[in-house]
Amino acid sequence: MKIERAERLKKLPPYLFIEIDKMKRKAKEDGMDLVDLGIGDPDLPTLKPIIEEMQKEIWDASNHQYPLGSGLKDFRVAVTGWYKRRFGGVFDPETEALALIGSKEAIGHLPLAFINPGDVVLIPDPGYPVYNAGTIFAEGVPYLMPLLEENNFLPDLDIIPAEILKKTKLMFINYPNNPTAAIAPRSFYEKVVVFAKKHNIIVCHDAAYSEMFYDDTKTMSFFEIEGAREVGIEMFSFSKTFNMTGWRLGYAVGNKELISALASVKGNLDSGQFHAIQRAGIAALNLPDKWTNDLRKIYEKRRDVLVGGLKSLGWSVNNPKATFYVWIKVPAAFAKMHKDSKSISGELVKFLLQNCGIVSTPGVGFGKYGEGYIRMTICTTEERLQEAVKRLKEKCRF
Ligand SMILES: *Cc1c(COP(=O)(O)O)cnc(C)c1O
Repeated sequence: MKIERAERLKKLPPYLFIEIDKMKRKAKEDGMDLVDLGIGDPDLPTLKPIIEEMQKEIWDASNHQYPLGSGLKDFRVAVTGWYKRRFGGVFDPETEALALIGSKEAIGHLPLAFINPGDVVLIPDPGYPVYNAGTIFAEGVPYLMPLLEENNFLPDLDIIPAEILKKTKLMFINYPNNPTAAIAPRSFYEKVVVFAKKHNIIVCHDAAYSEMFYDDTKTMSFFEIEGAREVGIEMFSFSKTFNMTGWRLGYAVGNKELISALASVKGNLDSGQFHAIQRAGIAALNLPDKWTNDLRKIYEKRRDVLVGGLKSLGWSVNNPKATFYVWIKVPAAFAKMHKDSKSISGELVKFLLQNCGIVSTPGVGFGKYGEGYIRMTICTTEERLQEAVKRLKEKCRF
């Protein structure tokens, strides 16, 4: 039998991290000692009180059946309670909050709820690859909004052509941003609300990094802006905030029609997240701030090691105020040496892997406007980050 994949699957670019993983595995097999600054996945364990709660809940047989629905009532109450403490807004746990199996699935599923074939979806580029994949699965048409350094990595909404806007049904935004580490000022969110209302566009704010901020930075929720509730849904994740990537837990809050349509898609495709995990999630949301503050301090120190080191080498890099990413412009001398190559960010990533045993991610993997940059993460110890800087100093002077 000839087995052929559907067009929608063929249209997807290769999932970036799988490619990197192949290169990484090969280097490991060759016996290299790798400093992995590639994928954004916390190296530290899930916070202890959350694991302890899970240990209890897993024995409770009432947690063992199909979860179904929008998530445990107690979970949704914990979500809206957390939101109110953190950002001050009030959501109805019955209709305006939804449990997710990690925010990735919800981002991927959202276009299925709203996009008809040919509808346009505005997507930040560089960006999290799932915005594009979800759009293509729903037979939507991605329209890229470049995130450029000269605009502080915010999309320029004013240059999107009117004929595109006529066909646009949904837009994704994501701050603090992966991969650029940019944060958005209030004025940007205000502009988005006006824009969305004017053109009748649903806004999905991916707030996966809302709690990963440093120094005196204040990150915002989309719903701190008046009128945002008319147009928006916001996705939050336990993954980065509580070191819970493997647990698969997130939540959405927002406009109740948006929440209920997403719940309807999910109700037909999944059966919700394990109740014991949702209960552990409640414990996470109710943790004293000290726990997440301590985590932030760890990342802050790591960031200072890596960014300080890169700057001492003369590399052009902004000190990230949020996320655990460092977005690095390919050094001009290196770019010049490889100016005829298809991708200078790909070349630099390969060079760093082969010469220094450092794993990083080419910006172009997040979209064409990411070309010219690479991304490093700080999901490893200060010692390993120091080791990375040392290797760069010794072997990567351009
Ligand atoms: C990590 C990440 C997510 C989602 O993570 P989940 O583990 O699925 O909750 C969503 N958006 C961005 C930009 C991310 O980097």
